[in-house]
Amino acid sequence: MDFHQFKEEVIAYSREIGIDKIGFASADVFGELKARLKRQQELGYQSGFEKGEVDERTEPGRLLPGAQSIISIALAYPSKMKDAPRSVKGERRGIFCRASWGQDYHDVLRDRLHKLGAFLKERFPEVELKSMVDTGELSDRAAAERAGIGFSGKNCAVITPEFGSYVYLGELVTNIPFAPDEPVDDSCGDCNICVDACPTGALVQGGQLNAQRCIAFLTQTKGFLPDEFRTVIGNRLYGCDTCQTVCPKNRKKDFHNHEEFEPDPEVVKPKLTPLLSISNREFKERFGFISGSWRGKKPIQRNAILALAHYRDETAVDELIRLMNHDPRPVIRGTAAWGLGKIGRPDCFEAVEKAKEKEEDEQVLYEMEKGLQFQT
Ligand code: SF4
Ligand code: SF4
Repeated sequence: MDFHQFKEEVIAYSREIGIDKIGFASADVFGELKARLKRQQELGYQSGFEKGEVDERTEPGRLLPGAQSIISIALAYPSKMKDAPRSVKGERRGIFCRASWGQDYHDVLRDRLHKLGAFLKERFPEVELKSMVDTGELSDRAAAERAGIGFSGKNCAVITPEFGSYVYLGELVTNIPFAPDEPVDDSCGDCNICVDACPTGALVQGGQLNAQRCIAFLTQTKGFLPDEFRTVIGNRLYGCDTCQTVCPKNRKKDFHNHEEFEPDPEVVKPKLTPLLSISNREFKERFGFISGSWRGKKPIQRNAILALAHYRDETAVDELIRLMNHDPRPVIRGTAAWGLGKIGRPDCFEAVEKAKEKEEDEQVLYEMEKGLQFQT
């Protein structure tokens, strides 16, 4: 088998099936990453969503015995929305991050990796494969960096010369000895814009993220949001784009190469108040196909309450009072009570006082007290 020729064929095929960039890397142990992940673990900077132990995540040979190469792929996604909803006075909207616009990218990338895998198998029946997208053990970013897809920015994203950091990544570990590509020769240099712009100081230093402070992670949690982040999340319903939108390497990067990633503006920038009364079924129908819905409706509704509180949206008061009094979920009742206090109209405080009399959940009562403190 002429693996050099085969590699060229794989590259040509990847273009046919709509892969925007492909790169090849060795399947050697990711030694530097291993040390970094262990440090992150010791510092408590992980999100808890990571899959597998550090060794599995950094040793491709553990995932595929006989691993020889990693094929890394990137698909570009848009950074700008066509037909964004016009701002209408008094009509507050929330926002899903760009990486959750359009159809869930896990499905789209899996489809491309599946096609690529079938192509490899057809040409080289002895091939062994393991494919991964985001939720796999291997770090998509480390693989992409080694395969020459892009360099690792201080914002912890892989920055490609062609599409900036607005790319989804996935990879195939294979037992084929493809020649590796060169890493991208670029870096952040003296720039520190993303580190300075991060609203929560989650970028501890360039390239080191404390996931526990990162809004992208915090918007996905299901409990009460810690107080210090309640205002700073603004109108974000899912994820955070700030460290990408401020990056000069992303200037003028806006690619609409894939119909699947085109956002429906009413889905990714929805009106906030109607979200508070959406049924499970409606939520699934409307948001179920985007990656931002994977944690269900509770975190989205909690974030919607915080966004309405952030805007001090008085038109939402009746709906918040209803939630505080009747929602079965303590996180929603308590967040609604806190939000009412933040909005701060006299009838909000009266409603919280009244609700307190029949509330039995201690955490909710604690949130009610905090809400009432906005009076002083
Ligand atoms: S995603 Fe947002 S919160 Fe997280 S590091 Fe970037 S700017 Fe900070
Ligand atoms: S904003 Fe500057 S420091 Fe941050 S990733 Fe972009 S180039 Fe690097």
